[in-house]
Amino acid sequence: MPDQHPTEHLVLNPATEELIATVPATSPQEVDAAVARAVRAQAAWAATAPADRARLLRRFAAVVDQHREELAALEVREAGHPIGNARWEAGNVRDLLEYAAGGVERLNGAQIPVPGGLNVTFHEPLGVVGVIVPWNFPLPIAGWATAPALAAGNAVVLKPAETTPLTALRLAELALESGLPEHLFQVLPGAGPVAGAALVDHPDVAKIVFTGSTTVGKQVMARCAAQVKRVTLELGGKSPNIVFADADIEAAALAAPMAFLDNTGQDCCARTRILVQRSVYERFMELLVPAVLGVTVGDPADPATAVGPLISAAQRERVRSHVPEDAPAAIRGEVPSGKGFWYPATVLTGLAPDAPAVTEEIFGPVAVVLPFEDEADAVRLANATSYGLAGSLWTRDVGRAIRVSRAVAAGNLSVNSHSSVRYWTPFGGFKGSGLGRELGPDALTAFTETKNVFISTEESRP
Ligand code: NAD
Repeated sequence: MPDQHPTEHLVLNPATEELIATVPATSPQEVDAAVARAVRAQAAWAATAPADRARLLRRFAAVVDQHREELAALEVREAGHPIGNARWEAGNVRDLLEYAAGGVERLNGAQIPVPGGLNVTFHEPLGVVGVIVPWNFPLPIAGWATAPALAAGNAVVLKPAETTPLTALRLAELALESGLPEHLFQVLPGAGPVAGAALVDHPDVAKIVFTGSTTVGKQVMARCAAQVKRVTLELGGKSPNIVFADADIEAAALAAPMAFLDNTGQDCCARTRILVQRSVYERFMELLVPAVLGVTVGDPADPATAVGPLISAAQRERVRSHVPEDAPAAIRGEVPSGKGFWYPATVLTGLAPDAPAVTEEIFGPVAVVLPFEDEADAVRLANATSYGLAGSLWTRDVGRAIRVSRAVAAGNLSVNSHSSVRYWTPFGGFKGSGLGRELGPDALTAFTETKNVFISTEESRP
């Protein structure tokens, strides 16, 4: 019941456990009112000339750029991201807005040759788009859907995660400062099952973009199905990092730690299943141990820090429930003492391929290493998961790189690299990792309906 949910959310700094803000939780009635305002704002926005919409979005990008340092500092405080990462994230939002602005005037339809007339297609905006964001990348994920949705002529109502509403709220203020019309981009902090559910169920919300856990994503999809509402789901992952014997083993071992430790492992693309060809397994482990132990964990505000804390005490409990801190581990790193939601970098070996730590998303700084025999075995292990978001493979054999990339059932593969997210390229999951794609050249059309119009050219009969 809604009244069992809090009326406000406490925002803590995860590195210090200090209270940094108290944010009121949005009620279902307030969601209704916000959607009604968004409907009106969207009608005017859709009628605005594309060149003017593009100009305003470019100005929004410029204002984000001017406030990049402030947004990054806020992301450090509310999400515990290392400052270097947070600066990249704020820059990513600017880039997304610029890229989306570039698409506004190129949202062209098609003229399709058909007999008896002229046939044209239009990309019509959807209307109001609801965006539901998780806490792990609160700032960039807010931008991923918002930038193309606005560019395509929609209004956005965004619900940030309970623990991390501050950067999205600031982004909405910056949108207004940059001259975007009032109520076109609204941010409503609140509880998932209350404000989030009200947004999902609202009949005037045409599409939901949900990023979060697979469990909640399935519920959101079912509720959207009840209204045949459009939905994009960006869900969990358990991505493989496959190291073949012919790879540059040193490069692979040195890159492996940050591929699962980045964002303290709270990354849907984290390469948490390290699969290593048996003939190089020992050599790989000898290199991996110092590489993991050498990662700098600590104060996220310090530019030398690579890994910060987990987001919350609850998240630390969740990680511990998968891997107690005293469980036998091949590698276990150090964490700062005292306050903060710390959990040590942990690498588990010797597990069966169907062990829960191998198959379930832990969403913390924990990886497993498994040996494999040959290419077919590597592909089989890589695909032995209900997820399919990302994956890496390390090899010097071009043919193998292409074969294995095609054979792994995941949306984002990288060869001799762990890069997954680029605003120019499509991003999304296979299987339980999601539905639909974000980013890339089709980002704007994902926020439109294609309309087909046929105009007869037959001579009218007397
Ligand atoms: P979560 O599913 O608990 O919450 C995500 C968002 O949904 C939050 O804003 C929450 O308030 C809201 N929510 C919760 N219940 C809801 C409901 N009944 N109706 C509507 N909204 C509701 O996920 P989380 O713990 O915040 O985020 C971590 C998860 O997100 C991980 O599984 C991670 O893999 C995934 N993730 C995926 C991607 C991707 O692009 N595939 C990116 C980042 C995170």
